[in-house]
Amino acid sequence: MEQSGLIRMGDGVWAFMRPTGGWGETNTGLVVSPGAASLVVDTVWDVAWAKRIADVQRPLVADAPVTEAVNTHSDGDHWWGNDTLPATARITTSAASLDGMHEDLPPAALTAMATAGELIGRLPGPVGAAASFMTRVRADARFPRRTPRFPDRTFDTSHRLTVGHRTVELERLGPCHTAGDLVAHVADAGVTFTGDLLFVESTPILWNGPLDNWLAALDRLIGWDAAVYVPGHGPAGSVDDLRALRDYWLWLRDAGRDRHARGTSVRQTARELVRSRDFEPWSRWRAPERIVLSLSTLFDQWNGNPPGPPTIVRRARAFADAETLLREGIFPQ
Ligand SMILES: [Zn+2]
Repeated sequence: MEQSGLIRMGDGVWAFMRPTGGWGETNTGLVVSPGAASLVVDTVWDVAWAKRIADVQRPLVADAPVTEAVNTHSDGDHWWGNDTLPATARITTSAASLDGMHEDLPPAALTAMATAGELIGRLPGPVGAAASFMTRVRADARFPRRTPRFPDRTFDTSHRLTVGHRTVELERLGPCHTAGDLVAHVADAGVTFTGDLLFVESTPILWNGPLDNWLAALDRLIGWDAAVYVPGHGPAGSVDDLRALRDYWLWLRDAGRDRHARGTSVRQTARELVRSRDFEPWSRWRAPERIVLSLSTLFDQWNGNPPGPPTIVRRARAFADAETLLREGIFPQ
């Protein structure tokens, strides 16, 4: 299902799909209770795209105004468009995600880094490589100038949202991808918005961990047996895609742990894994270089550090390693 734009996912449920699933190409959701109210799931970080999505959705919410919104986690590509939501809409996220939003670098800082990266990126060595990678992550997105509106309401583990005549179940399944990952389950339509707990045909990133928590989250999502799982990135998925992601994590965990035990570096481990025959099932997933970012988190935790958001130093080192491997041309195109 490679359709892009506003796609109907179930009864009164839509998603604005960016199925290429690259950096910042985030899927968002819309749940409509006709004649009453609507809910928006996530807002993208590119201001122009956020406005475009709101414009395209306007006819669907003409008699069902957006009264509720949800941010699935703290990564900017899922909430930096919050200023395009109606001022009267209430925004909900998990308490851990709100903490992450306050702790992460604001969009103005990322804009400055990506812009500097265009110059610094020419420098040889890890500083130049990390800066180049940041420029690659931003691509052509225009981040908001000011930090957008934060969510107004939080919950710890689960919360039932009323949207007109419908209910949407929110459940926090993190820490996995980030500390506060939550999913939104629209049971009456058989649709689940997974945020970045599911990537489809696109390489996932373990930023926070622990990985075991992500595996448990996938089992829980599989148990819901929804007709459609709308991932944070990539085309709409099914239980099979959740299983494929679980297989990727199990492979990466086992192959990575062996090499960590032997003292192999993150970069060399990524190089060996990508060149191995076992990589074949994942080789067509977009942005395969993200394997380095996940390995950097796994190695950090295997070194005895507790799970947590990446420090700036760890993130910069992982970006530099990813950029170096991209320049080596080891990834399939
Ligand atoms: Zn994302």
